[in-house]
Amino acid sequence: MQHWTISRDADGFATLAFDKAGAAVNTLSAAVLAELNEALDTLDREPPKGLVIRSGKAGGFIAGADVDELGDVKDEAGAIAIVKRGWDAFERLANVKYPTLALIRGFCLGGGLELALACRYRVVVDEPGTRLGLPEVMLGIVPGWGGIKRLPRLIGAPAALDLLLTGKTIDARRAKKLGIADECVPVRIMENTVRGVLRALPRPRHLDLPLSLTLHPLARRFIAAQAEKQVAKRARREHYPAPYAILELWVKYDGDALAAPPSDPASIPSLLATPTAANLIRVFRLQERLKSLGKEGEFKAAHVHVVGAGTMGGDIAAWCALRGLRVTLQDQNAERLVPAMQRAGKLFADRLRDPRRARDANDRLIPDVAGDGIARADVIIEAIFENVEAKRSLFASLETKAKPDAILATNTSSIPLEEIAGALNDPTRLIGLHFFNPVAKMMLVEIVIGRQTREVLVPLAAAFVRQIDKLPLPVRSAPGFLVNRILAPYLMAAFRAVDDGIAPEVIDEAALLFGMPMGPIELADTVGLDICMEVGKMLGGGTAPPRRLTELVAAGNLGRKTGRGFYLWVEGKPQKNAAGDVPAGLSDRLVGPLVAEAKAALAEHIVADADLVDAGAIFGTGFAPFRGGPLHYAGVA
Ligand code: NAD
Repeated sequence: MQHWTISRDADGFATLAFDKAGAAVNTLSAAVLAELNEALDTLDREPPKGLVIRSGKAGGFIAGADVDELGDVKDEAGAIAIVKRGWDAFERLANVKYPTLALIRGFCLGGGLELALACRYRVVVDEPGTRLGLPEVMLGIVPGWGGIKRLPRLIGAPAALDLLLTGKTIDARRAKKLGIADECVPVRIMENTVRGVLRALPRPRHLDLPLSLTLHPLARRFIAAQAEKQVAKRARREHYPAPYAILELWVKYDGDALAAPPSDPASIPSLLATPTAANLIRVFRLQERLKSLGKEGEFKAAHVHVVGAGTMGGDIAAWCALRGLRVTLQDQNAERLVPAMQRAGKLFADRLRDPRRARDANDRLIPDVAGDGIARADVIIEAIFENVEAKRSLFASLETKAKPDAILATNTSSIPLEEIAGALNDPTRLIGLHFFNPVAKMMLVEIVIGRQTREVLVPLAAAFVRQIDKLPLPVRSAPGFLVNRILAPYLMAAFRAVDDGIAPEVIDEAALLFGMPMGPIELADTVGLDICMEVGKMLGGGTAPPRRLTELVAAGNLGRKTGRGFYLWVEGKPQKNAAGDVPAGLSDRLVGPLVAEAKAALAEHIVADADLVDAGAIFGTGFAPFRGGPLHYAGVA
């Protein structure tokens, strides 16, 4: 066998180790599953006392199905064949006569978790890299290899549906708490624990009575109807059919996707009839491509220095500290640092959920009015006021104090990099790292390459962006870079529609119907109308600013941050009237300018190719993921 190795010990236990040949990561391809069946044949001939299934790789258990094979599916028969081979293999594994145990260390996702669920026991290793989840729904597909059947039986419907419908991942401790894992142990005792479980053969976990009732057919209908309401708040059925299909497969077919007749909207042929799955798989691959850009350079930062502790700088600093870096944060005086430090404290508490880890993150974020961190930093990020003279004099001074090989980066949105770089002795050192607001939510960071920027810095900056777990997108320095450039005409079209008398609610609804995560008017209110006005001036090509927008800004009604913009904002929520009917063509009126600008940006080589334009649009603006990106939507990519 190429991918699996069976070994046996003197006590009669066997280990089946998975080390996918020629791949850095274990994924379940057709060949891998065929060999798994071969391995089970071999074990059947001489059944072991117990079987441990584990990864033979240094990192990770199993990342899931082979996404390339999923992406290559051409027709119904191909899709059904994929579902069947995993379903059959794991049914067989679940029914072997000897006890089975999955030892999970590192990621255990999708088909990987479904394999583990088919084992009698699961031991998870408690370390930060261990993550379990069923992210299929994010690819527009369903966990068709037994996940929909086995997970609710193991942990009860409410927790299982939460994982199945959101695709979120959980850590080792949570897996133990929910009952997915029988044991959660540190790495030093994992081998002994595995042995111990297989020797003792404890009775497999049973659901307690209230949770077992959630599996009753009548309860299933009720619970699924409730869950569907939650799903409907996040995803429309016509755009994202998979979560609805998961619920129906669980209620009607106990999770067996092959049992649903083609006429059923939950069936594999029905899911394939919409382009959603193919487009979401495209989005996944685009994301992998952005991630791979971070592997092209050898760079690891230990210390980041951020200058400017406002909206952006404060949150960038907090994010870097959250991701494990030592960070010094500088502003003009100590008072200006206070709000940023407070927001950071909240971020750490929310994200880390462990007081000790939150305290460590707080310790990593150091207020530094004097700028002592400059000389020690590997990366220096400037996020001060959008003022060219201020930025020029800051960089002139930073350059004299920074380490010679430190990355010098600006977060500017609108000042040409070349203008700032002119103040440096070595202008080739300056690069842009353009983060988006809110920093903690937006995955994308544009790496802005000025005409003067040394090209060798680009892979290093990309490696840094990956180090802090964001997605790097190299862009040429030109007004609006990529993301703001394509977003601006979309927002302008929305403002003009308001000036034409269309209600903001109707405009937002038209965008939601298209599949945007948020309408443009609500988005503008959220970003701040003053910022929209500035961006509009920069990118508007000299056209008159929209009337209503100008009035609101003049009156100081800047959106969410002032409590009033196009909408009235109460407790962080826009007060909207019912949208009513959306006029025909309104979605196109909004989205058309974005698509046209995306084409123009491609023609001007702002990014390297059409796929990267789409990646920027999806991860930087939230462009309807199920449509695969503006250029894919327009038939260009
Ligand atoms: P902000 O006004 O909220 O914060 C700027 C901070 O910089 C202030 O706290 C100020 O005291 C400090 N500062 C000014 N001069 C300084 C100096 N010489 N030394 C130290 N600190 C100094 O601004 P912001 O919205 O965070 O924007 C910062 C930068 O990020 C700008 O270049 C902006 O274009 C860019 N940007 C903003 C957004 C956004 O949505 N706000 C998004 C992307 C990029």
